[in-house]
Amino acid sequence: MAGMITFTMIKPDAVRNGHTGKILDQIISNGFQIRAMKYVHLSEAKAGEFYAVHRERPFFKDLVEFMTSGPIVAAVLEKDNAVADFRTLIGATNPAEAAEGTIRNLYAKSIDANAIHGSDSDENAAIEASFFFSAFERF
Ligand code: GDP
Repeated sequence: MAGMITFTMIKPDAVRNGHTGKILDQIISNGFQIRAMKYVHLSEAKAGEFYAVHRERPFFKDLVEFMTSGPIVAAVLEKDNAVADFRTLIGATNPAEAAEGTIRNLYAKSIDANAIHGSDSDENAAIEASFFFSAFERF
């Protein structure tokens, strides 16, 4: 079912600051259905593996350090046009550039502590969902 699912993580800053409930509410009220969800504290190895594509980037070490700084909420979301619609809902990577009312505009403080992750393609959504969850027969 191409285009129906995306993967998200509510990042450590947003969980730490008590924004999990409001963010989930915004996700659900924008038409996404939660198909899997997990509260987890990533190890350095797992965070490095998840962000392996950024391994050569100057911010990689900071990114792994931040993503292991506290628990996250990982989830698989279902909706028509899930990947693109969710990227619109979360806003630009840099919260200073995120549109008014987007999740990053409302809850993120900086480009590294940017509150939430959303997959950038259908292919990556499937890879990222499988990274955290094993049962995807339904998708
Ligand atoms: P996303 O798809 O919007 O999450 O953005 P990217 O895939 O480009 O980057 C992945 C994550 O790396 C972002 O969500 C940020 O948390 C982090 N990141 C990206 N650019 C920077 C940067 O310039 N500095 C730092 N510290 N983190 C960054």
